[in-house]
Amino acid sequence: MSGKNRDLINAIVATPGGGSTIKQMDNEDFLDLWRFDAVFKSKGGYYDTHQLPEPAKQFLDNIIKGTNGQISAIRKNRVHYPIPIVHLIASSKLGASAGKSEGKYFIGINVATSFILNDLFCRMLSSCKILRQFGDPSKEGETQKINFAATTEIKELAIEKNPNENIIPRDSTRAILAQVLTSWATKFLSMHEYAHIVFGHVDYKENLLREGKSLSPMNSQTLEYDADCYAAQIAFREIIFAFENSTDVKDELRPFYADLEIIIFVWAYAIYSMYRLFQVSGVDEYTLHLNKYPHVGIRQRLMMTMMCTLVDREAKRDTRYSGTLDRVSGILKSVIEQAEKAFDEISNQGFCDGNIRFAFFSPKADSHFKAIHNHFDNVRSELEKFSYGTFSPFTPLR
Ligand SMILES: [Zn+2]
Repeated sequence: MSGKNRDLINAIVATPGGGSTIKQMDNEDFLDLWRFDAVFKSKGGYYDTHQLPEPAKQFLDNIIKGTNGQISAIRKNRVHYPIPIVHLIASSKLGASAGKSEGKYFIGINVATSFILNDLFCRMLSSCKILRQFGDPSKEGETQKINFAATTEIKELAIEKNPNENIIPRDSTRAILAQVLTSWATKFLSMHEYAHIVFGHVDYKENLLREGKSLSPMNSQTLEYDADCYAAQIAFREIIFAFENSTDVKDELRPFYADLEIIIFVWAYAIYSMYRLFQVSGVDEYTLHLNKYPHVGIRQRLMMTMMCTLVDREAKRDTRYSGTLDRVSGILKSVIEQAEKAFDEISNQGFCDGNIRFAFFSPKADSHFKAIHNHFDNVRSELEKFSYGTFSPFTPLR
């Protein structure tokens, strides 16, 4: 997306969503949209991009196209995996969902998702003080701060933004990096949702509802953990593929794909920062044990643990990667430092690395992290009834 990011966000905020805008189309497609709208009604329903100005429409249509493309790439070797119907949900929050209706699977990506991510990464890259190792940061200006950067609500972001700001990075390499980061984070979210479908989570939940039962917080956190593991693995496959075929990578993307350590840095920076938007202040019994989702710091730690595990596995297969294995924890440490510094720089919240510190250093968090991991064995037999994939996406803790 180029140009007027601010106008696009305003367009999203101002646009009413919902299924009322579904256009006339042939019967089966119409029915699918209608089902999609019904499945995600409580989250906002179907979002029609036709009502948007052209750059925004294209930007959003490309997200759907990209998700469908990723799914067909996965299905090349796994033809029995379901083909979900992918559309946008008229929600102003960052997020995505998976669901099922009448035997069909659906993935909904909240329309605000990529705009929030794009705004974040453009704000960072347009600052001469952030991620200085990429492109020519001397072309960028002073940081355009907002009061509160860790938000997942586009309406809050729209209020925070200065209406006259221009956060498009001036250096072309840095402008492209903002798009690459946005794309990694968006893909992570959509593959997380695909995992909920492929590994039977959606059907398992539906079955529980049918039996009048509900999903316990621990079971729910385990499924989220499982889906994060899968999303990380899909990304890793893409990272290795891009590295091994780097001559095929488009010229403008080459600075971010030439070196495996740089690809890992960029990917981990994108996912770490995306979770950072869900910042929770402090930890109590609720955020750790009773929430539907694992604590943000635990998810960040899981993403990093997965990356180490995957590099380790790859290094065993191919000695070219042994050097990367030695350096991966250093790369990830640098991701935390640089992302936290960037959040401090773009906002007035002050430096705040409490979540990730908690996840790594608190015995309480550590034991909960392992408990979620081990709890998978308790749901495995239930999920196996519904899963299309081979168990498990889940990798043993190192
Ligand atoms: Zn999930």
